Amino acid sequence: MTYRSSILLLADGARYDIFEDLLEKGELPNIREHIIDRGAYSRMTSTFTSTTGPAYVPFMTGCFPGTVNMPGIRWFDKAAFGSKPFWNPHRFRSYCGWEIIFLNGDLRPDKLTLFEIFQNPLNIFNQVSRGARLQSGWIERINIAREKRRKNYEHLDDLAARLFFRRFKPDTDFAFVVFQGIDGVSHLTHPHHERVIEGYRRLDRFVGSLAADLKKSHRYDDTLIGICSDHGLTATHTHFDLAPYLEEKYGLKTISYTNIFRSKPVASVQVSGNAMAHVYFKNRSWMHPCFEEDVERLAPGLQAALLSYDAIDLLIVRRSGSEIGVYSRRGSAILSESDGGIHYKVEKNDPFGFGPLPQTMTHSESLERTWDTNYPDALLQILQLFRSGRTGDLIVVSNNGFDLREKWENPEHKSSHGSLHRDHIMVPFCLSHPFTAGPIRSADVFPTYLKLLAKTIPNLIDGIPFSGLD
Ligand SMILES: [Zn+2]
Repeated sequence: MTYRSSILLLADGARYDIFEDLLEKGELPNIREHIIDRGAYSRMTSTFTSTTGPAYVPFMTGCFPGTVNMPGIRWFDKAAFGSKPFWNPHRFRSYCGWEIIFLNGDLRPDKLTLFEIFQNPLNIFNQVSRGARLQSGWIERINIAREKRRKNYEHLDDLAARLFFRRFKPDTDFAFVVFQGIDGVSHLTHPHHERVIEGYRRLDRFVGSLAADLKKSHRYDDTLIGICSDHGLTATHTHFDLAPYLEEKYGLKTISYTNIFRSKPVASVQVSGNAMAHVYFKNRSWMHPCFEEDVERLAPGLQAALLSYDAIDLLIVRRSGSEIGVYSRRGSAILSESDGGIHYKVEKNDPFGFGPLPQTMTHSESLERTWDTNYPDALLQILQLFRSGRTGDLIVVSNNGFDLREKWENPEHKSSHGSLHRDHIMVPFCLSHPFTAGPIRSADVFPTYLKLLAKTIPNLIDGIPFSGLD
């Protein structure tokens, strides 16, 4: 079966367990009838960092965020900071404010997006939009900004639906629609709040209207429909404010958003989600690489101190050569990759609590063997992030219940995501075409859509098409 058109709906922040529970209770009848009963449902792993923006990238490009050089919703570029003048806007980045205008330019230019591959794509609210035609007028954009400022996420989801029906034309061959309500309201409340649950039902009602519309225009059978999510969320009870901590305990003048324009900083903290942070150190100069022993010299005892706090789950740091060290209270391990193989060596106890694993695994094997653990796909997800030169010298990951940002977060975040934990990285996925459920990644959606729409799949991407598509 070849499809003429395709639609991918992204429910930002949808948790797989809530999605499955509502399905089971019959509260998502349209998704069940028009998508799952015609195709399949599966859990899927998202990516690190499991944050809006970077976690959209695998769906749009088939590549992980590290592969396309976008390692977080905020990042710091040491080489640019050390070499470019203070007014250069590309030395650090936050996609949470006006700098969102740079997002498409920050992506590696040689990795195509679905908007660039399809002829007549439609984009509703996806910021990873290179190749999409700008369809919003000024008045509409002002309206959207106002609703976002007022945290009117339900209105934004209704607006996304209205815009879709207005702009989905007979020749549209790919549409990407973002529903932000689940994520937005979760940050204001918690992931199981009734207002959040209503966001899942609102998505289901949209699928009902979509099916009716497609049937009316005789496009129901040759339009592929998928639903995905970029991350889960967990409730946050305590903030561990990492940037002020570095400054107060270690005397390191630290820049972080929005306290970013300070003279002569020696460290930078860039938080994503807010459960992970990239930490960058000036090691003599900003251009100089910074390995584990350098971190210890610049901030003596920092790693041991961080691991003594209940707030901190994992520390990830570059070792000399191309090795990466992973630490938790449970244990430590060394990770590296070569020729598509993952090398994993546990020192005493496993930092993730994994059972015995082979020392060398393929990407697929590593996903399968960690699928049912608390850290599905963590090994490849750490490795891919270090492909980016914008990744921190030290990555700090918080435990569920905690996050890493307080002073500059307004309003207060009552839910978090961004980490490698199952609750953040495992997401629901369904497609109106049959496929084999099981260990799949969000980067696999890109080549799967292209295959089903009879398009050429670009070389050198991280995803592989789902199995069982015929
Ligand atoms: Zn969020």
